[in-house]
Amino acid sequence: MIRSLYSKFLVLTLGIMFFSAMLAFLIVNTFYHQQLKTKNDEKNTEIAETIADYMEANPTLSLTEFLQKEAALGYKIVFANAEHDLQFFGDDFREDNLSEAAIDNVLKGKIYHGMREFPKETFVTGFFSDETANTVGVPVVIDDNNYALFIRPNIKLLFTEVHYLLGGMFVSMAIISLIAMVFVARKLVQPLTELTKATKKIGQEQFSVELPTGRGDEIGELATSFEKMAAQLQQSDKMKKQFISDVSHDFQTPLQNIQGYAHLLQEADLQETERQNYATIIQSETERLSGLTKQLLLLTSLDTLTDNVAKRSFSLQEQIKEAIQKHQWQMMEKNITLTADVDDITMLGHPDFIEKIWENLLSNALKYTESDGSIDISLKETNEAIIFTIKDTGIGIDASHLPHLFERFYRADSARHADIEGTGLGLSIVEQVVALHDGSIDVISKLGKGTTFTITFLKM
Ligand code: ADP
Repeated sequence: MIRSLYSKFLVLTLGIMFFSAMLAFLIVNTFYHQQLKTKNDEKNTEIAETIADYMEANPTLSLTEFLQKEAALGYKIVFANAEHDLQFFGDDFREDNLSEAAIDNVLKGKIYHGMREFPKETFVTGFFSDETANTVGVPVVIDDNNYALFIRPNIKLLFTEVHYLLGGMFVSMAIISLIAMVFVARKLVQPLTELTKATKKIGQEQFSVELPTGRGDEIGELATSFEKMAAQLQQSDKMKKQFISDVSHDFQTPLQNIQGYAHLLQEADLQETERQNYATIIQSETERLSGLTKQLLLLTSLDTLTDNVAKRSFSLQEQIKEAIQKHQWQMMEKNITLTADVDDITMLGHPDFIEKIWENLLSNALKYTESDGSIDISLKETNEAIIFTIKDTGIGIDASHLPHLFERFYRADSARHADIEGTGLGLSIVEQVVALHDGSIDVISKLGKGTTFTITFLKM
């Protein structure tokens, strides 16, 4: 099998050239056999008859001299008398295969059509076949003596300079186009070689590739999309690395704490209150790690969710009520007033993921709202959309943080609220679930006053 595109192109072009030549030859051949052969025979018969007429009209003519002159004009001539003695004029025939019967027939007054009857098997080359059988024969009667005159054109003499020039032109055209093809093929394949190199580089995580994007053809287009793909790969590679570094960092801190307090627990002269204290810290740190792992797993399952996973109909009201129920104790603890105006609405989607929206938004509202604050939840349906809002009177978010809020691990003002636990993953989960259900999400927030999240699912 031919591997390289370059050699494929060459072999293919050569093949095409060869087959088109063969086909052209076949077409010319058919044309020759069906049309030209007969015409050629007729034409030569006419000429032979003119010569015969002239000989008959001038019986005193020196036959040898006359026929020699005729031959010099571009013919090969066989002249037979009644005894079948043959005289040849002009250049020698390659083969003398004229049958006695043919000579007999002409002597009896018939015309011999050797050219027209020349075997069909021989290709167009029959035209060039230099045999005495490939002639036309006419009877000649001089002074009551019967003769037979056979002629055919002397191809060699008929071939003029123009024929050689044309032949030369075809041969040089073939050679020049062959050489040009070799170069064109190389030029065509070169950018592909560059693309291959670039692919290898990207495979080794070197994303800065330079490709022939300026070309206006398909290869230029391919190079452009290739560069775009390289840029996207670089971006996602960067994100992946950042993600790993963030995850490692978020795991590192609690693990160090656990290690440290476990170490302290091993000390001999430890008071009961201290021991309790350290154990509580270790427990809360493991809880934090467990929560973080759950969120990461959720993000991964969101990333890998495919269209094959069937959506189903479920009640949003039920889910929201359940979420409120779960956080009841927190509300009581912080004395937060909650109002919920939630209509009975069903939705088609992935309930296990949708429920994370209410959970995350409600737990954020509770986390970032100080004691005695209030939270208002509403779920409404219009002709076009399902709209959920959650409004709190909490600490609010500075405008500068809003554009980054949904990024993974992003925590606004984490230094100022170091006491508030969080991973920075909640809102990115919310955003991803909303996007998965073709929804949109809006935030309005005022620092120190409160925040409102609105989620809109457009109905199809
Ligand atoms: P976290 O685990 O830190 O809460 P999220 O992704 O849920 O992570 O939220 C990202 C950041 O957005 C939070 O760190 C917080 O600064 C800000 N934020 C989210 N919800 C609220 C809210 N209701 N009020 C004030 N700030 C909020």
